[in-house]
Amino acid sequence: MQAHLVGVLALQGDVAEHAAALERAGARAAAVKTLADLERVDALVIPGGESTTVVRLLDRFGLAEPIVARVKAGMPLWGTCMGMIVAAREVAGMEQPTLGLIDITVRRNAFGRQNESAEVALAIPALGEQPFPAIFIRAPWIERVGPSVELLAERDGHGVMVRSGNVLGTSFHPELTGDPRVHAYFLSMIDKASAHVGKASSAA
Ligand code: GLN
Repeated sequence: MQAHLVGVLALQGDVAEHAAALERAGARAAAVKTLADLERVDALVIPGGESTTVVRLLDRFGLAEPIVARVKAGMPLWGTCMGMIVAAREVAGMEQPTLGLIDITVRRNAFGRQNESAEVALAIPALGEQPFPAIFIRAPWIERVGPSVELLAERDGHGVMVRSGNVLGTSFHPELTGDPRVHAYFLSMIDKASAHVGKASSAA
């Protein structure tokens, strides 16, 4: 079987780092800038960057609705930092349009000035006992999780990693460290989604 082709939304943000980390974890990576790019990929990563800019660009390039439609049809999506903000249902304290793909409320730049950037040994039980070296850069935290959402990690009592079905969100940047476990976790979500699609079509 060919390795999964994972798209990295390339309108703005840390695209190259994600593509390299996905390839280290065993996937193929492709930049997604157009509808044609989106149609080819098995899954999509929305990287870190500036969320207000990217939501505007998604609209301008006509990508917002097609992304929502594909995720609702089962395509795995992972948002890191800004990407998680873009995927969230709600942004606390501001009227910011988002794609509403995961039932969480996030707060932008939530860890405060002193903690603008930090590397934290984060407990993520779903990835095993070894703590994960999590890099936070002007990161959001998760203030509310809906009933369908699994909270996978917390930093100082605030949610920083969540999953709901085919959607994964992290406040931190696994693409900036050498630890491949979050990328591998996302690839296992794609394995499951593809097995499901395979079954559905062979049953038809
Ligand atoms: N502070 C950015 C925002 O709120 C996110 C930062 C990041 O993605 N590293 O959009």
